[in-house]
Amino acid sequence: MDLQAALKKLIVDVPDFPTEGVTFKDITPLLDNGEALLIVIDHLKARYATRGVQKIVAIESRGFLLGSALAYALGIGLVLVRKPGKLPRETREVTYALEYGTDTLQMHVDALETQEKVVIVDDVLATGGTALATAQLVEASGAHVMELACLMELGFLNGRARLGARPVYSVIQY
Ligand code: AMP
Repeated sequence: MDLQAALKKLIVDVPDFPTEGVTFKDITPLLDNGEALLIVIDHLKARYATRGVQKIVAIESRGFLLGSALAYALGIGLVLVRKPGKLPRETREVTYALEYGTDTLQMHVDALETQEKVVIVDDVLATGGTALATAQLVEASGAHVMELACLMELGFLNGRARLGARPVYSVIQY
């Protein structure tokens, strides 16, 4: 069995969660499986080990789980992108549109250096709004988005297009 097929067995579709009409991709069975977690992180490590990545930027909250493991594996720093009111010092923020309403993400103003090469990490790329807002926070710091790395890409929502020219890598595609 290939990697993608094996990992898909550990991602559970939960219908109508957190709201009706959404099929939630639950990664807790994958996180719960030591061999699978090791394979995912080693797979991403192999992709970025020789590309001069200087920071991992992880998106709250499931992005933190994969992002921190990847930063550790690469021996580089981890930057947190969080929902409002969580980061204790001065932040920069981006507000973006959701289907209903808006959402805001924040990053500490001093988290990244100008020209730093960054990989953004999240669990799921859906419509791309979250990843785009994060890319804008990185770019507002003067840093460079080398790639968005996600465990899963919901291709039918076309989040990749929303990110424009920024490269996207997904381990699993639906
Ligand atoms: P989006 O901004 O639409 O690309 O949504 C991405 C964010 O929402 C990610 O941080 C995901 O954790 C979460 N997300 C979106 N759709 C799903 C889904 N079907 N299952 C699990 N998480 C999702």
